[in-house]
Amino acid sequence: MQETRDSIQDIWGPRTPHQGDWPVRVDARVLEEPEQWVQSACVMCSNGCALDIGVRGGRIVGVRGRGVDRVNHGRLGPKGLNAWEANNSPDRLTRPLVRRNGQLVETTWDEAMDLLVTRSKAIRDRYTAGAIGFYNTGQIFIEEYYTLGVIGKAGLGTPHMDGNTRLCTATAAAALIETFGCDGQPGSYADLDVTDAILHFGHNIAATQTVLWARVLDRRASPNPPRLIVVDPRRTATAREADIHLAPRAGTNVALLNGLLHLLISNGHVDHTYVQLHTIGFEQLEQTVAKWPAERVEQVTGVPAKQLQAAAEILGTTPTLVSTLLQGVYQSAQATAAACQVNNLHLLRGLIGKPGSGILQMNGQPTSQNTRECGANGELPGFRNWHNPEHVRELARIWNVEESIIPHEGPPTHAMQIFHYAEAGSIRLLWIICTNPAVSMPELARIRKILQKEDLFVVVQDAFLTETAQLADLVLPTALWGEKTGTFTNTDRTVHISYKAVEPPGEARTDLDIFLDYARRMDFRDKDGTPLIKWHDPESAFEAWKVCSRGRPCDYSGITYARLTGGSGIQWPCNDLHPNGTERLYTDQIFPSDPNYCEEYGHDLATGASQTPEQYKAFNPGGRAFLKAADYLPPEEQPDEQYPLWYSTGRVVYHFHTRTKTARAAALQGAAPDAYVQLSPDDAARYGIAEGDMVQVESRRGQLAAPARIGDIEPGHVFVPFHYGYWDDAERSRAANELTITSWDPVSKQPHFKFAAVRIRKV
Ligand code: SF4
Repeated sequence: MQETRDSIQDIWGPRTPHQGDWPVRVDARVLEEPEQWVQSACVMCSNGCALDIGVRGGRIVGVRGRGVDRVNHGRLGPKGLNAWEANNSPDRLTRPLVRRNGQLVETTWDEAMDLLVTRSKAIRDRYTAGAIGFYNTGQIFIEEYYTLGVIGKAGLGTPHMDGNTRLCTATAAAALIETFGCDGQPGSYADLDVTDAILHFGHNIAATQTVLWARVLDRRASPNPPRLIVVDPRRTATAREADIHLAPRAGTNVALLNGLLHLLISNGHVDHTYVQLHTIGFEQLEQTVAKWPAERVEQVTGVPAKQLQAAAEILGTTPTLVSTLLQGVYQSAQATAAACQVNNLHLLRGLIGKPGSGILQMNGQPTSQNTRECGANGELPGFRNWHNPEHVRELARIWNVEESIIPHEGPPTHAMQIFHYAEAGSIRLLWIICTNPAVSMPELARIRKILQKEDLFVVVQDAFLTETAQLADLVLPTALWGEKTGTFTNTDRTVHISYKAVEPPGEARTDLDIFLDYARRMDFRDKDGTPLIKWHDPESAFEAWKVCSRGRPCDYSGITYARLTGGSGIQWPCNDLHPNGTERLYTDQIFPSDPNYCEEYGHDLATGASQTPEQYKAFNPGGRAFLKAADYLPPEEQPDEQYPLWYSTGRVVYHFHTRTKTARAAALQGAAPDAYVQLSPDDAARYGIAEGDMVQVESRRGQLAAPARIGDIEPGHVFVPFHYGYWDDAERSRAANELTITSWDPVSKQPHFKFAAVRIRKV
C-alpha cells in the first residue's frame, strides 16, 4: 500500500504556511498500483476536493488528489482517502428487491419498474399526482437531479418533492434568499488565503471539511495569521485553535448575534455609506439589536460580556472577514434568523464581494448545492421563483409543457411535511432516493412507523440495504460514485466532473438510468406529444440543464464536459460574460433582489409567513440587500425538572451521514466504531459517571445508550453523534435521532437537531 500519510492519525497533514497561493501537496492512498487514473472529485462532504480514482483489474484501488484544482490543491482528508472502499464492499445491492409476504426478495428490473409504474399510474389516476412524494438527497449528480426535477414538475406535476438537504442546507439557501434575494454562495475558498479574520459560527470545520480546515491552519501558521473566532457550545478541535471561543447555551444563537451587532453599531463600526447605498432595513435592525447589551447577552447565552466585546472588536475593525456557518446554526433554534444575522455582520461593514471578504453558508453534503439548483428540493430549477408567473412561463417554454402542470399554487412541500402527509395518508407512494431517513430524520420511532404503513408504497433507491431500505416495499439497486459519470458543485460554486471509473456490481443501475427508464415507461410527453425527457445520457442531460440555467444566477451555460476535463473545476456563473467562471459574487455590490429576478419574496423571520409580491415590491429593493432583523425567541423545548439537560447531535471527523459508506471503510470505522455520550466533567461527577461507562439518555420521544466521553462540552449539555444506526449493530438503541424533536425552523423548514431536553443515568 502507498499512502502519503496516515490520515486517520494525522487528519489535517503537516503545515505548509501560506499567505496568498496555497501550496500544492498531492495526498494519495492506493492499495495496488493503478493501471489507469480517472478524473473525479470527492463526495464525502461539501468541500468537493478534486481527485483521481485509481483503477486496476476493473476495481477501484485508490485515490490521489488533483494538484491542479482550485479547491484542494491536491489535499485529501481521511474520508476522501478511505471511503471509496465502500464501492468494493461485498454487501452491495446487485438486484432489485420486492416485498412479498413480508420479506424482501430478488426480482428483475423489468418487474420492479413495471410495479413502480403500475403503482404510480394507479395512485395518480385515483388520487392525483399529489399522492406521490419524493424524498431525495444531497449525494447524486446534477444530471440526475435535473431529470428528477423535470419528472416531478412537468411529468407528474406533484409539489411533494424535497431533498434530505432540508436537514442539511435548507437554512443556507433560505438565509441567502432572505438577505440577497437569491441562493448562491457569495464567497470563495480563495478568500481564506488572504483574509484578516475568520468567523466559524456553529461550524466544526476541523471535523466536517478537513481539507478546508487544513487551509485555515496553514494561514494560521503563516507570519500574518488571520484572527479566528469560533462559536460552538463544545470545545472542538476548531474551537481549540480559536483566538476567541464563544460557547453559548443551546438555542441562543440569535441573542448572541444580536449582541455582536449591537456592539458593532454602538462602537461606531458601521460603514454607513455602504449601508445607505446597498442595503434596506438598518433602522429596524438597529432598534432590534439595541435590546441586547452585552450583559443581557451574558444572562441568556452564558457567554461572558468581556468575551463578546473582544469578539465584536475583531469583527468591527478587521479590514476583511470570512464567515462560515453550518449545522450549529442551521439545525438550531431560529436557524434562518441567526444565519441572516451573520450576513448582516458583513453588510454593516461592507465586507462582501471583495478579496478576503466573503460569506460561506456552508453545505453539508457533497452535491446539496445541486439539489437546490436543479429543482429536486421542490423549488423551481435555476433558482426560479414559484411566486413569479414569468418564471413559471419560462420553465413551461423550456420544457414545452402547459404552465398548469408545473406546481406553483403555493410553496413546494418540505420534507417534514411530506412525511406528515405520508403519516396522514394523503401521500400513498413515497420514493426515497439515496438517503436514509430511518436514521437521519428526527424522532425515529415515528419515522419507522410511517415507513411501515400499510397504505404507503415505499420505494428506496440505494446501493446498500440501509435501515430505510429494510422497510421498503421496493428496493432499486444503484451505482455509486466512481461507477457513473456526472457533475456536481461544491460549497464555493466550483463545478467538477466525476467520470465513471468502474462498472457497478451486478445489475445495479445509475440513478439517471432509473429516472430515464421511469419517464419512458410513464410515457411523459410534452405539448407536441414528443417525449418530455429529451436526453439519454449524462452529457446530454447536462446540456439540457445548461439551457435551463442560462440567464439565472447559477448560469452553467459556459461550462462543458470538455472544459471540466483535465484541469481544475470551474465556479459558476460561467457564461459569455464570465467565460472562465466567477471567483466571488457581488463584486459590484448589486444583489439579485430585483422582484423580477429574485428567487422568493421573503418571509417574516419569526413566524415564517411569506411576504406577498406586493409587499416585497413595496421595498423597492433595486439591487440592494436586506438587513433582516430578528429578536430572540427561546426554543420550544427546554430542560425542566424531569428532563434537566440540553441535548444536541452532530458529526465526527471519520464518518459521513449515516455511515452507509464510511462504516464500510475499515480504517474509518475502526477509528470511530460506536456512538458516544459527551458530558462535562461537572455533569459526569453529578451523575456518578466515569469515562467509558454506559449511559442511557432519554427524551420524551425515545432513549439510547452509549459509552460516556467526558470533557470539552459546557455543563448542562449532552452531545451524541448522529451517524450510528442499526444495520451493523442492532443490539441496543443507539441512534441519536431516537430522541430528537419533530419541529422545524419557520422559514427554512429545517428540523431542530441541536436542542431537546433529556435526562441521563448510568446503565
Ligand atoms: S474535505 Fe471533504 S471533499 Fe475533501 S477529501 Fe475530505 S471529505 Fe472529501
